[in-house]
Amino acid sequence: MALIVQKYGGTSVGTVERIQAVADKVIETKKQGHQVVVVVSAMSGETDRLLSLANNITQTPTPRELDVLLSTGEQATIALLSMALEEKGQAAVSYTGGQVHIRTDNEHNKARIVDIDGARVHKQLNDGKIVVIAGFQGVDEDGNITTLGRGGSDTTAVAMAAALKADECRIYTDVDGVYTADPRVVEDAQRLVSITYEEMLEMASLGSKVLQIRSVEFARKYNVNLRVLSSFKDGPGTLITDEDENMEAALISGIAHNKDEAKLTIVGVPDNPGIASKILGPIADANIEVDMIVQNVGVDNSTDFTFTVNRTDYDRALSILQKTAKSIKAKDVSGDNKIVKISVVGVGMRSHAGIASTMFKALADEGINIQMISTSEIKVSVVVAEKYLELGVRTLHTTFGLENGAITESNK
Ligand code: ADP
Ligand code: ASP
Ligand code: MG
Repeated sequence: MALIVQKYGGTSVGTVERIQAVADKVIETKKQGHQVVVVVSAMSGETDRLLSLANNITQTPTPRELDVLLSTGEQATIALLSMALEEKGQAAVSYTGGQVHIRTDNEHNKARIVDIDGARVHKQLNDGKIVVIAGFQGVDEDGNITTLGRGGSDTTAVAMAAALKADECRIYTDVDGVYTADPRVVEDAQRLVSITYEEMLEMASLGSKVLQIRSVEFARKYNVNLRVLSSFKDGPGTLITDEDENMEAALISGIAHNKDEAKLTIVGVPDNPGIASKILGPIADANIEVDMIVQNVGVDNSTDFTFTVNRTDYDRALSILQKTAKSIKAKDVSGDNKIVKISVVGVGMRSHAGIASTMFKALADEGINIQMISTSEIKVSVVVAEKYLELGVRTLHTTFGLENGAITESNK
């Protein structure tokens, strides 16, 4: 007998019929002799609907109240799934995050899980029940409801699996695994049989939202056996795993893209020590996260400084930068929120030179201008105009031969 945590995302529980189909899948696993904990998301579109309700009242809802509101989406799904299970003759019990002691810090809207007490869950499992838990939510030390950031149900599932010492955590979604690129952008993207935690972390943080970044961090830290699979069709999915020395590392395992960023530039800044902190200090003080940074020194000893922020912070960042420009006597400020970051990711890059230049040449051949570049040991990212998103991702997918599959089922 194994203990299995299954997580079903929004599309998988998007209608009553789908919830009933999920109940069948859960019962099937239970009938194989396993204990099953199910973590669910809100029905698809529900979190966005709740967000827009709030925004109809205020553009700046109190973070605490927003969490009280957003957490209701998942609460509806746990009750409906438990009813569906009971209706099919399977004993089940639903719990909100707080009821199973998913304790978080008090950073509303992006809280981090600090502790889970699995005792209550174990007790119900030992009584033969299926335990259905609301994803995406917890409570802070004072009992306030918190949420874990968009996509946070993945993290609830993995953290739950770690706390319960589950044998496996299965993330059921609307694709049948992790692909070499977003299958919505690249038609001939290939499913990966497996991917290392490190690559998956990089892919997730560069925009592949098939898994929330924190869920992968948790899985790596607690060695959770993690798999991404389809809710709608059978198959092995993709295993997220440690690097295996026997596995021939793929040079590139995937292409990620991120449309959530915007670019800001301040030009003609006097090139003195401390200038970077004068520019970025006020941005950080406003709690705006900066991603890529490029600084160039011009001939006249003045410098241009470009950085990217989340698109939702663009307007605020621009007005802060305009104030800074006046105070440090910069020549001009400009911005662009129609950009996309495209990245190639692969642990095999560590032992291969020339990935970046192959990438730049492929983009140049398509007439795509690169605006910014950043590299690490296992990735190269570029910022280009948003209109080149599809062309850029598809070109790189072909350039690195990913349609033939890096380490895919067909050539395993
Ligand atoms: P859920 O609601 O089940 O949590 P998500 O929408 O959060 O589902 O994640 C699944 C989606 O992630 C897919 O529909 C797909 O478009 C997108 N995605 C982005 N990059 C990838 C990738 N490399 N592999 C698979 N899916 C990806
Ligand atoms: N319902 C939340 C969201 O839409 C959490 C999740 O689905 O993982 O982001
Ligand atoms: Mg998701």
